[in-house]
Amino acid sequence: MPVFTTPAILLRRLDYGDFDVIITFFTLRRGKLTLIAKSAKKSTRRFGGILELFSILELVANTGRGKGMPVLQEAVLKQPFSGIRAHFKKTAYASYWAELINIWMEDNYRQDELYFLFEHVLSELDSGQATEAALNILFQMRFLNLSGHCPHLRACSLCHRELENMQQAKIILDLQRGGILCGDCSNRSASRISLARGTIKQLLWVESGDLAKATRMKFSPSALEESTHFLEEFTSYHLGKQPRSLKFLRQIRG
Ligand SMILES: [Zn+2]
Repeated sequence: MPVFTTPAILLRRLDYGDFDVIITFFTLRRGKLTLIAKSAKKSTRRFGGILELFSILELVANTGRGKGMPVLQEAVLKQPFSGIRAHFKKTAYASYWAELINIWMEDNYRQDELYFLFEHVLSELDSGQATEAALNILFQMRFLNLSGHCPHLRACSLCHRELENMQQAKIILDLQRGGILCGDCSNRSASRISLARGTIKQLLWVESGDLAKATRMKFSPSALEESTHFLEEFTSYHLGKQPRSLKFLRQIRG
């Protein structure tokens, strides 16, 4: 059976029967991939207890017989990110990002940029250098961008009037149209999401460009609150479902 190796981030794990574990990885070389890790449940010696959520591993796996699930042969721990799993709130954020990836990605479809983005936000979350809320905004904006759902924030989605030429203090964002609307066009929207002009500018700064610079971006408290609400609604709307982990994240955030 063909064997392959790849770096991979552990997205979710499910016990399977008495001995085995079924694991979904975001792999660098093969995109999303679900593997079976035999005897991983009973024997911690088999994989040395390293098959933990959000950790980065170097995998050796085979492609399985016929239609069978690929089998995990070996795994070497590259980044444990144990700082995430030790904190309830950090785990909630990482679970939300992992679920967005899991919902959107197709199996065996490589997504290098998204892989490095996820690795980056997990690393920052683990070290605690950036705040969870700011990382959540950064991840969602870039995830939307990479998945082809980026909100149109530069000009009115209907008449194309530019943001700079809009007079209102609060700009209406229409979920269905996927972008902002000017004062004249906003009467035709049922959306109740509104964003201050300054918030929109901050979102545009983190949307693309240098990742390290975007990570150091300081949001004002009101921009943080508006962006969080808007991005979580927008992302769920465009994925066509609300991630279960979002409900949990909102509960613990209070
Ligand atoms: Zn307009």
